[in-house]
Amino acid sequence: MLIIGLDWEESEYMVRGLVMSFFPHQEFGVDLTPADELSAEQKRERLQVEHNRVTYYNAEGKEYSADYVRPSEAGGKAESADLEPDEASEAPQMTKKIPIEDCRALERAVFEVLGRATHISLPWGILTGVRPTKLPMAMLRDGMEDAAIRERLETEFRISPEKAATATDIARRELKLLNEIDYKNGYSLYIGIPFCPTICLYCSFSAYPLAAWKTRVDDYLDALEREMIAAGEMFKDRILQAVYIGGGTPTSLTPEQLTRLCAMVHKYFDFSHVREFTIEAGRPDSIDRDKLYAIREGGADRISVNPQSMQQRTLDLIGRRHQVEQVVDTFHLAREMGFDNINMDIILGLPGETEADVADTLQKIAALKPDNLTVHSLAIKRAARLNIFWEQFAHMEMKNSDATMRLAYQTAAQMGMNPYYLYRQKNMAGNFENVGFATPGKEGLYNILIMEEVQSIVALGAGASTKAVFANGHIERCENVKEVGGYIDRIDEMIGRKRKLFLQEM
Ligand code: SF4
Repeated sequence: MLIIGLDWEESEYMVRGLVMSFFPHQEFGVDLTPADELSAEQKRERLQVEHNRVTYYNAEGKEYSADYVRPSEAGGKAESADLEPDEASEAPQMTKKIPIEDCRALERAVFEVLGRATHISLPWGILTGVRPTKLPMAMLRDGMEDAAIRERLETEFRISPEKAATATDIARRELKLLNEIDYKNGYSLYIGIPFCPTICLYCSFSAYPLAAWKTRVDDYLDALEREMIAAGEMFKDRILQAVYIGGGTPTSLTPEQLTRLCAMVHKYFDFSHVREFTIEAGRPDSIDRDKLYAIREGGADRISVNPQSMQQRTLDLIGRRHQVEQVVDTFHLAREMGFDNINMDIILGLPGETEADVADTLQKIAALKPDNLTVHSLAIKRAARLNIFWEQFAHMEMKNSDATMRLAYQTAAQMGMNPYYLYRQKNMAGNFENVGFATPGKEGLYNILIMEEVQSIVALGAGASTKAVFANGHIERCENVKEVGGYIDRIDEMIGRKRKLFLQEM
């Protein structure tokens, strides 16, 4: 167990995320013994955070330390005051009483000490939060040039030059796309279909096996319809810009149910300004010609066919229960039926996958020429079976690497794609990122809107999380219950939560 020793109590919140990035799967304890009272035994596997000094003692008791200065005490200017307490770095959100510059000075010291001790270099530097592009986005809005932004990301946040350039590029691309729409007066709609053919090993979403819930799918659509009627009414004077039906796997529904779903969305919401309507078809084993027909006739112009890996051994292991050939056939079928904006998702760091496996997967995807490629780094969440049965898989390599990430970027570039949105999750394999690539003009607008948090997203369905972005920039969320039965039974309560949230705004 690694002990975080503190003489400055709030600092636990500031350093914990960063320490976890250096020591994934490690257990932590906290101890308030001051540094000068530590016994030799206590000086092992311990990170000691003092007022102006950080020291790490490894298992052999070897010591690595760094001094740091708190800018607020040194009379320094809070040069990041222009940036919101951001989701790029979580610590400042939790410690609003501590100046953001002081948090960052401490984080830089921890980063330096643990980097030296472990020889691990974290590509995203001191950032542990989910939205690193918010930083360059804020700097761009302040009129900074790209070179100055990159330099600040590298020096202040210790981000690698490669990631700093990527984040800056993406922020500029996002800003351009956002400026093409009146996003401030618009809103987006998310609808969750929480059923899947089987549950994947790494899944932590609201997903339920279809076989067990088959008899309740129509009840679910009835509840969804009631939520749509209420939300459509609440937002009748606002401009709907993007619609995303995800899950789960929406194509778990029958063709008739898909037709009903699309008809309901069109009935209760005004589509005259909708720029993009995505249905995440998702699992190839749930897609057929009739369903694609229902989706196409239902007006969706962007779909996903998600392989996650093109290695049969991996698909079997992670419980996907579909064949590699099914991915290829489904993709060709969708193209043949006229879908000209198809996304494919892959995950890097899946159990037992080597660099050669990833290269082979990427090659097979490149041969299909999708319009979007979304590359995820495996993130093992608490509720996932992969975490619950961790010991069964502990012997397998589950790590993303610089080399595989680079391969993904290179393959996307060879397909004529640019990175256009990016986010990170906790407990990611190798502490990398999820990144969406697209050929020019095929970028998923909804993905940018959800990442940059510039407009409200009304989310319907079990486990859906609605986000209200108010005119003053303040953000509030309300969640629907995750469990399908609970969602159906308590639909009035879900509607009431939304009314309460948006009443503040309207
Ligand atoms: S397809 Fe997606 S939502 Fe469904 S079980 Fe797999 S990871 Fe979860």
